[in-house]
Amino acid sequence: MKKHIFLHFFCIFCLFFCYFCLPIKIYTASAHDFYYTDNIHHLFTHCLLAHPEIAFDKNNNMHKHYANDCITPTEFSNILTQLYQNNYVLIDINETFKSNENGKAIKQKVKVPTGKIPLILSFDDVVYDQKKLSKGMVDKIIIQNDKIATQTVFNNNKNISTNNEFVTILENFVLLHPDFSPFGAKGTICLTGYDGILGWRTSSKNKTNRDEEIAKVKPVIKKLKDNGWNFACHSYGHYHMKQISEEKLLNEIHLWQTEVEPLIGKTQVYVYPYGEWEITSGNQISPKHKILSDAGFKLFCGVGIKQFYSYLPFNPQIEEKVLFMDRACVDGFTLTNQKEKLKPYFNADEVIDNIRFSAV
Ligand SMILES: [Zn+2]
Repeated sequence: MKKHIFLHFFCIFCLFFCYFCLPIKIYTASAHDFYYTDNIHHLFTHCLLAHPEIAFDKNNNMHKHYANDCITPTEFSNILTQLYQNNYVLIDINETFKSNENGKAIKQKVKVPTGKIPLILSFDDVVYDQKKLSKGMVDKIIIQNDKIATQTVFNNNKNISTNNEFVTILENFVLLHPDFSPFGAKGTICLTGYDGILGWRTSSKNKTNRDEEIAKVKPVIKKLKDNGWNFACHSYGHYHMKQISEEKLLNEIHLWQTEVEPLIGKTQVYVYPYGEWEITSGNQISPKHKILSDAGFKLFCGVGIKQFYSYLPFNPQIEEKVLFMDRACVDGFTLTNQKEKLKPYFNADEVIDNIRFSAV
C-alpha cells in the first residue's frame, strides 16, 4: 500500500516536472533571451577632438566652433561606458527598415537581447576637410597592422593612434564588452564628398593624386564594413536643404553617385546636413524630396533630442509617406545645455572632459 502511495506521488512529481519545469527551461534558453521592438534610439556626434589641447587653444580659430559642435575622446569613452551600463546595445540602422514591393521603406522591429535597449550611433562629417587640418582633429583614418587607426601629422611627424577617434575607441570598447554589440553592429558613418572621405582626397577637385587616394581608401572602407560599420549619405557639399535649388541638388546627387557611391556602395540612408529637411511643398511631396527618393534613399534622418521614428508627413491629404528618424545630438552644446534631455542615455556631468573648462 505504502509503495503505491509513493509511486503515486512520484508520478505526480514527474508530471509536474515535465509540464512546468522542462518547458520553462527550454523557453528561457531560446525565445526568452530576445525580444523584438521598433522602439529605437539614435544618438549622433561629429568627429572627435582627437587632440583637445590643440582644439581648445584660444589661438585656434576653430576653438569656439569645436567647443559647441564636438566632443573629446574622453567624453566619448565616458559616454560609451554609461550607455553600456544603462543597458543600451548597438544595432545596425539597415536592420530597422525593409523595402516593400513598391520600393517604399517599411519600419521593422529589431531583435534585441532581453533587458537591453536598441541604439544606433552615427557620426557626421567624417571628411577631415583640408581647411581643418592641424586644428585638433585627426587627419585621416588608416589601416595599421591590419587594424583601424588614425593618422595626424605634426611638423612632418606622423602620429598614429588607435584610441583617439570614435571608430577606434568604439572598436576597442566592443572588444572589451562584446555584448554591447550583440549582432556585430558598430556605427553609421555619414559622409559628404566635396573634399573626399575619411581624410582621403578622393573628390574630383583633387587634380594631383586622386587615383592614389582612391586606391588607399578602399582597404579602409573594406575593413570598416567587415567590422560592422556602415555608411550614410550626408549630401555631397553639405548644403542647406531649404536653400539649395532643385538644379543644384540634382548635381549634388550626381556627384555623390559618381564620386562616393562607387567607393562605399549604395546606401539607402540619407542624413540631412544641419538636420534641415524638406519633405512637402504645399499639399504634395516636395520636388527636392523626390530627387532624393529617386536616387534610392529610403530612410531619412533629422536631428531632434526626442526619440522619433515614424512616417512623415502627418498631412492626411498626402498619401505618400516617408520613413523618418530623428537623432539626438551629442555635442559640446548639448552636454552643457541639455543635460536633462540626455539623462536617459548618460549623466552629462559625469561625462564632461575637464579640458573643456580649462580652455574657455
Ligand atoms: Zn554635417
